[in-house]
Amino acid sequence: MITQILPVTSRSLAYAKELIEAGEVVAFHTETVYGLGADACNDAAVKKIFALKGRPADNPLIAHVHSGYDISGLVETPAWTARLREKFLPGPLTMVYPSRGVVSPSVSCGLPTLSLRVPSSPTAQAFLRAVDRPIAAPSANRSKHVSPVTAQHVYDDFAGDIPLILDGGASQGGIESTVLDCTGTVPLILRAGLVTREMIAAEVGACEYYHMQAGEKPKSPGMAYKHYAPSCLTAFFAADDAAGAVRCYNAEKGRGGTPVLLCEHAVALAHADCRVLDLGNTPEEMASNLYAHLRTGEHMATLLIGIEPAARGGVMDGVRNRLLRAFGQDTRE
Ligand code: AMP
Ligand code: MG
Repeated sequence: MITQILPVTSRSLAYAKELIEAGEVVAFHTETVYGLGADACNDAAVKKIFALKGRPADNPLIAHVHSGYDISGLVETPAWTARLREKFLPGPLTMVYPSRGVVSPSVSCGLPTLSLRVPSSPTAQAFLRAVDRPIAAPSANRSKHVSPVTAQHVYDDFAGDIPLILDGGASQGGIESTVLDCTGTVPLILRAGLVTREMIAAEVGACEYYHMQAGEKPKSPGMAYKHYAPSCLTAFFAADDAAGAVRCYNAEKGRGGTPVLLCEHAVALAHADCRVLDLGNTPEEMASNLYAHLRTGEHMATLLIGIEPAARGGVMDGVRNRLLRAFGQDTRE
């Protein structure tokens, strides 16, 4: 199969619609990362996504709809969730609701819930409006690999396996949406993202992180899987151990390798004599740069050496979660 990367135009959208109606898979830009989409009501098409990614069959997908889509036919929406939709949608917040069982059971892997997202990216909206049906879509990367933030990243993972990548430019958000369990009376964050615990709590009074108890079946199966791993060797150092990272850098250089440091801006400035991928200053910059740098790093480095950024809370909760998992660190704290 030839994989085309096309800009979003009325012609490419008509082609994308044709492909989706024929049960094919189409990759598309969102403001967080690129998605790998299929008709959520077509079981065979949804199963294609799992097969293409090599995704475990118990890790559910998010269904994407445009902002004018009436979600009341798909899910039950507890009254308190309306405020969150008004405030944060369209945007990088995925809300998990009790499902009405309309989409293919493969989307939610048999769970009684369905996660819905309304992306704000104008090209994602144009695609979702063109197809006018829920599109099941995980991030458009091979399972466990770094999530894609450009059409080229998607191409690198799926060239020859999918017919179309709708190119909307770089995904500026950079990390996946916040996943929020809305099935109870208080929202629970299953995955941290750009819509933070603090922002949600400010709207509805309370919001907690979900912590899996030992031996419990995870509420969000994706939490249990290794993720975001670059294909090169990696090492990781705590924020207060930049000196250890530099020793590791010099040792790799001494072995004839090509080490690269991945760190925040202030640390990058202090190590001008090292090869560095600079994550930036603010939490939003670090989120936006993280996956692009991990993908660059895997091509540049024999050993990619991460140094934990110092800041915590807010958007940093999502950045730290992805960074630590990319470097094979346990994120339970
Ligand atoms: P991805 O689309 O690859 O970014 O992954 C989607 C994330 O959302 C995974 O961590 C899933 O486990 C989680 N997710 C999707 N649907 C549900 C659901 N119905 N209940 C709980 N978590 C979900
Ligand atoms: Mg993913």
